Amino acid sequence: MKTNPPEAITPDTPPPVADAALGLAAKYARPGPRYTSYPTAPHFADETAPKRYLRDSAVARQLSTNPLSLYVHLPFCADICYYCACNKVVTRNRDAAREYLFYLEKEIELQSALVGNKRPITQLHWGGGTPTFLEDAELTRLMHILATHFRLLADDHREYSIEVDPRTVGNDTLALLKGIGFNRISMGVQDFDPRVQASVNRVQQYDMVAELTANVRALRFKSLGFDLIYGLPHQTMASVSETLRKVVTLAPDRIACYSYAHLPHRFSSQRAIDRLTLPSADNKLRLHELISDTLQRNGYVHIGMDHYVKPDDELALAQNEGRLQRNFQGYSRQLAFDTLGIGASAISHMGDDYLQNATQLEEYYARLRAGEFPIQRGYRMSWEDKLRYHIIMSLACHMRLDINELEDQFAVRFGDHFGQQIAALGEMIADELVELRDDLLLITGKGRPFIRNICMVFDAYLEAPPTNGNAVIYSATI
Ligand code: SF4
Repeated sequence: MKTNPPEAITPDTPPPVADAALGLAAKYARPGPRYTSYPTAPHFADETAPKRYLRDSAVARQLSTNPLSLYVHLPFCADICYYCACNKVVTRNRDAAREYLFYLEKEIELQSALVGNKRPITQLHWGGGTPTFLEDAELTRLMHILATHFRLLADDHREYSIEVDPRTVGNDTLALLKGIGFNRISMGVQDFDPRVQASVNRVQQYDMVAELTANVRALRFKSLGFDLIYGLPHQTMASVSETLRKVVTLAPDRIACYSYAHLPHRFSSQRAIDRLTLPSADNKLRLHELISDTLQRNGYVHIGMDHYVKPDDELALAQNEGRLQRNFQGYSRQLAFDTLGIGASAISHMGDDYLQNATQLEEYYARLRAGEFPIQRGYRMSWEDKLRYHIIMSLACHMRLDINELEDQFAVRFGDHFGQQIAALGEMIADELVELRDDLLLITGKGRPFIRNICMVFDAYLEAPPTNGNAVIYSATI
């Protein structure tokens, strides 16, 4: 395995952020969506949407042979990480997974009967929670159930990935994951600093991750990804520099680097985090720039908002060719237009419909016991939604919007339809975050940390409460 030489990063490395940029962090830091969908999930509040989707799709989808992306949610974790905002169930009770698998199989049968088993599954992702909470026999059984009901692929173009927690996966399990068909591993690393790890209750030594990395390479998985988080308690330029040095030494193919969103009133485990130990908005921007600068100097290509990949990675090629997509799992190649989510809280995007399964296990189980689909709520996109989806995803994936292409595709005059939004961009243009030309809206290098803010200009729902009346709580954009 070829690894890049680690950069000499010391605590004395000057922060690569100009004072003017720090002023922008204060100016633009505000709550906003991450745009893994548009409209965003809090707006999937229509309880009649599932019925309409099931009624309209039964025949059409069975006949379809279009590729399909499959997401399977496995919600259990043995321990809580304080920063966590995922839909998970913390338990040491092994029976919980067995019961969940029982109901998951029921849902897989229903979903397969609806969408048919002819559609090639080009992408498969198991996320959580901790998918590797399942025992080896359970992992095997779940893949077998999926293979029985869907058209899984064995070719090299498939992207079958699973999130693994280094604390729960040994070499035997890794070998098993390879054997049952996964070719991509995504590993939650977050940060290597012991003080940061202790403060978020996720202690996993560097040696543990390094050993697992070596095993992933030895087993010849096609790709290894690390997830990192910045904005965690006690992170400093020095501590993150050291984490980056270790990450670069281990040379994962992909690095997703997420901004921590501190929302303790929404995620109770975050109350264990002392907010006074969190970096300020200015310091988060400094950390963002340090990460971006360091990874790019070490040969990684910056993808979209928060991903970094090796130049020959398929995501880099997809970005160059305009085939990058953003969805609930982050960035991926566009190998299918529809995503079917299976499991409690999983979200599907099928055609114009977004559909979310019941988030609470009891509700999820009860619906399946009654022989019903566990879809709880949804949303059908309008023409206006699809127009804005195109703009927001173009900006989030490609840092640009081709205005001619948009006008051709939607038969709309950008300048006429979005006069208000163009006016709202004026300040961002003055701050050199975006450039607007006749045929192009372009996010500049300076504007990259503010992608979410720029997308927000085109979000028609930002100020609108969801129809279920619940307040929407977004994380800070910076
Ligand atoms: S971060 Fe992952 S492993 Fe930790 S509690 Fe959340 S879902 Fe579980």
